[in-house]
Amino acid sequence: MDTCLAEGFQTDQYVMYDAAGDFIARMQLMRIAGPSTPAVNGMPRPALHRILMNAADTAGARIRLGLTVSAITSHEDRVDVVLSDGSRETYDLIVGADGIRSHVRQMIFGGTTIRSSPGMAYGATPFRARRMSLTR
Ligand SMILES: Cc1cc2nc3c(=O)[nH]c(=O)nc-3n(C[C@H](O)[C@H](O)[C@H](O)COP(=O)(O)OP(=O)(O)OC[C@H]3O[C@@H](n4cnc5c(N)ncnc54)[C@H](O)[C@@H]3O)c2cc1C
Repeated sequence: MDTCLAEGFQTDQYVMYDAAGDFIARMQLMRIAGPSTPAVNGMPRPALHRILMNAADTAGARIRLGLTVSAITSHEDRVDVVLSDGSRETYDLIVGADGIRSHVRQMIFGGTTIRSSPGMAYGATPFRARRMSLTR
């Protein structure tokens, strides 16, 4: 967290303008990580990737890039995994962190349906904010 804050820029507000530069709304954001941590920490993705890679490396993680999981067999006391290069590994626990269309989730739980949320879209945020009558 401290490294991310040192490399990022912080804000507690979103201020929105339309395409002509006219002010639309100011949103006060909640400090969900605690009273002394700003609500938002903005930073370029490459900086975040570098920080996470360094933290994983320092923690002793072995990182293998360019692979995917081909098969997962769960046992009482272990999980056997076949990787896309044909190698086999055995773990106490596996965590699928492969995104919203998770291949790991699909292999373990079968087909799932992804519902789109009509609540917010990045491009439409200012227009919804105006309709929501947010404070100026
Ligand atoms: C346009 C946009 C802007 C956003 N802006 C913000 C923002 O400003 N702040 C914020 O907090 N969030 C933002 N988000 C949301 C944020 O990006 C996601 O919530 C977050 O990335 C989800 O993280 P994740 O680790 O679950 O999945 P992902 O970031 O999707 O990571 C999944 C990883 O798994 C890999 N993968 C997928 N399938 C396989 C497979 N079969 N085998 C091996 N690897 C696989 C992918 O290559 C990827 O690297 C934004 C999202 C979008 C789309």
